Amino acid sequence: MPEDRFLPPSLAAEARRVAWTIVNRLDDDDAVHQAVRRTANVAGVAPDWWGGAKLYGGNAGHALMLRYASRVARTSADRWRDRSRDILLRAISSTSERPPAHGGLGEGTAGLALVLDEFAADQPGYLRVRRQADRGLLQQVARASRGGSAVDPAAYDVVTGSAGILGYLASATTLDVDARVTAAGLIDGLVRLYGSPPGPPLKTTETCPDRAVDLGLAHGLAGHLAALSLAWNAGLRRPGQRAAIRSLASYLRDVAEEDAWGRIWPRRTPIDDSLPDQLPHKPMTWCYGAPGICSALLDAARALDDPDLTAAAVMSFESALRRALHGDGEPRTVCLCHGWSGLLTICHKFAEHGGSQNARAALTPLTERVLSHCSDDQALIVRTVHVPGTYVDSPSLLDGAAGVPLALWSVSTSVPPRWRRALLIG
Ligand SMILES: [Zn+2]
Repeated sequence: MPEDRFLPPSLAAEARRVAWTIVNRLDDDDAVHQAVRRTANVAGVAPDWWGGAKLYGGNAGHALMLRYASRVARTSADRWRDRSRDILLRAISSTSERPPAHGGLGEGTAGLALVLDEFAADQPGYLRVRRQADRGLLQQVARASRGGSAVDPAAYDVVTGSAGILGYLASATTLDVDARVTAAGLIDGLVRLYGSPPGPPLKTTETCPDRAVDLGLAHGLAGHLAALSLAWNAGLRRPGQRAAIRSLASYLRDVAEEDAWGRIWPRRTPIDDSLPDQLPHKPMTWCYGAPGICSALLDAARALDDPDLTAAAVMSFESALRRALHGDGEPRTVCLCHGWSGLLTICHKFAEHGGSQNARAALTPLTERVLSHCSDDQALIVRTVHVPGTYVDSPSLLDGAAGVPLALWSVSTSVPPRWRRALLIG
């Protein structure tokens, strides 16, 4: 399959050139350390905000990026394979000093295990250490499940909670019996949130302490829907799971609003009349709003084998594209989490698996938007918005520079973008 099947050849070549420029900058330890220190000052956070074994904001994320560099490289694959191994070892050795505090995907053991699984896909020798990480992960999940009875939304989300851990397990190349049992428990826990038969989600003050339901992929219902659907599609199936997928998908469709551009979602929706109606989330991003929600709906449509839901997900995503490119939905930054790279990545999914011609056509302008944020003059080539008006140089995978080359390679090379599982983009 030609590498530039999605983009004009000159744009694909430019996307690859810029991706390599970012990778080379991030491969400079001094440049990264200086950026991390500068960002800590600007953002007023501790200097160890970046690093350790974290996938979203540390060495595991860089190891993943460098592993893809070795797959994309034509003449220097060995060099990048060695470099990715060095950074992976740095991530692993950091766990003796800073063991992951929880099993979560973004900063915990599941994220590191996911990266080890990527390495094992090329070199099966890594499977042994991935299984070690899995054993630690399963123990953390077991300990967390023995915790208190109160429902903490973070315990169920993609970034730190069970949805992210389930997303990793559902995407792993192999699973042993113990991991399958743990995955079953995580599915049951998510299904239980919605009762039997599944009802409107999380609509009590006990389960929703701030009186609003988070709808986004990163921390809310779309994340639960993506995890349950990806697990179902991977053959991890439990009683009540399909009904919960159906209920969540229906709920998300029902709470969408409609304006001149099409469907749009707020970040959260109130559980009663005590809060005013929430404003729609305008930037078209992965963490909140239409793109992340539509991605989850597309995975649910596959789980339910529901062509009507597929059509609804595609139609809503196409309106998100129009809003981002021509309306009031421009992402304000370039990263995966809430920037153009995340929208480009989800658009690629809809171009490949949603059969959307409009998504296919939008890959060119979206790639151009990503590239327009990249400049050799910036410390890490791209800058990201910390708070409105304040830019930082972040080397992170999720909300910094390291995710950008992965998004650009997805549309400009023939290397399969399996890394998307790190965001539960199926
Ligand atoms: Zn975000």
